[in-house]
Amino acid sequence: MTDFQSLGLSKTLLKAVASEGYTTPTPVQEQSIPPLLSGRDVLGVAQTGTGKTAAFALPVLQIMERKKTHGKRFIRALILSPTRELAAQIDERFAAYSEHMDVRHRVIFGGVNQNPQVRALQKGLDILVATPGRLLDLIGQGHIDISRVEFFVLDEADRMLDMGFIRDIEKVLKLLPKRRQNLLFSATMPKSIAKLAGSFLNNAVMVDVSPKEMTVDRIKQKIMFLRKADKRRLLVQLIKEEKVKCGIVFTRTKHGANRLVKQLDQSNIAAAAIHGNKSQGARTRALAGFKDGSIPILVATDIASRGIDVDGITHVFNYDLPNEPESYVHRIGRTARAGRSGVAYAFCDDTESGYLVGIQQLIGKEIPVHSGHQFHFIGAIPKPGQKPGKVKTGGQSKSRPRGNRNQQSGRGKKKSNRSRKSNSSNNNSSRRQSPNSGSRRKNRSNRSNN
Ligand code: AMP
Repeated sequence: MTDFQSLGLSKTLLKAVASEGYTTPTPVQEQSIPPLLSGRDVLGVAQTGTGKTAAFALPVLQIMERKKTHGKRFIRALILSPTRELAAQIDERFAAYSEHMDVRHRVIFGGVNQNPQVRALQKGLDILVATPGRLLDLIGQGHIDISRVEFFVLDEADRMLDMGFIRDIEKVLKLLPKRRQNLLFSATMPKSIAKLAGSFLNNAVMVDVSPKEMTVDRIKQKIMFLRKADKRRLLVQLIKEEKVKCGIVFTRTKHGANRLVKQLDQSNIAAAAIHGNKSQGARTRALAGFKDGSIPILVATDIASRGIDVDGITHVFNYDLPNEPESYVHRIGRTARAGRSGVAYAFCDDTESGYLVGIQQLIGKEIPVHSGHQFHFIGAIPKPGQKPGKVKTGGQSKSRPRGNRNQQSGRGKKKSNRSRKSNSSNNNSSRRQSPNSGSRRKNRSNRSNN
């Protein structure tokens, strides 16, 4: 069995790793650390929960220590993350791993006052962890110089593209120096990511800890077919019956998350919502309550949940099935972390059976059906030969559930039909990347949150 020592880590970092209680490197660490230490670029297919932060943070810190710079500090490592939560967690990891080193790191993201961030930047930093919007804002204001960056890490690249950040990434890439080491991590590797990786990685080592391996056997998956109207009652029943103390419920919309929190409250279940319309303070409080056990249930939308790094989650409830199959893998990966086991329930109503087909195609297996509950509804079961993503007609509702790509944009007010239409055109245009299209609007609205 490989240990951290054989990966070539310095004494200082071995000490930090030991005080974190890590004894064995995870596969992504084992495969990424040696090539990174030798100066290679790395393309990692790995999701949050695999130990990928240490996989890039440890070698970055080690090389920085080896090649000490003297005089005024400048940003030597830039880590871009799609969400504030993930950015904050990456920064926390840097804090832990660099405990015995003289490096300054800092996280910056939108939605909070920029002044403390600017003050930290003025004092000088070695490592900057940032979301794209705030980074570009502060670069534009002359507070950040990334022209001497030696390490550029693009984390959760697939989610970055989903959130419409491609143009921001391109802008950042133009401002970086040519000579640097690059790392790109993504949970999935669609063509768009392969193209992006090809545009800036040089002769990269590919490290693949892909989601298929990640739908680990430790996660007990179950699918339940039911009517939409019965979802809430089944959820309450399961939470109570299984005495869930640390569970996360995924809804498709922010509004749905808020409504569900109220309904759970009426059933005497303490819950908090976490999504893009919540203030940073509310998100931090919800996460803190969830982590300390005072709030047993977190109700989240996909984007907001990225990077939630809580080890003891026992249950994941897919209250609404995601319309992007990869999201299912991300969601259920919130449980069974750090070697534990977990349960992932998925509710499928008659408008969602096409999504189930897509999910099962992606994970390469059928999710076992749990029909032994009072709400079982055969009308929600996919028809033989049903195509992925297609809405099964003939059920209660024929309307296709709306997508979740814009979860972080907008400000939570009820939208008119017109603004809804403009949002969906944003999605399409962002995929086409037309310069004068709605993608710019979408980026701006993402940026306001990030
Ligand atoms: P990450 O995928 O970077 O978000 O890490 C997920 C969790 O795994 C974090 O709580 C880390 O502290 C933890 N972790 C990272 N590497 C190891 C390791 N080698 N052994 C045990 N836990 C680890």
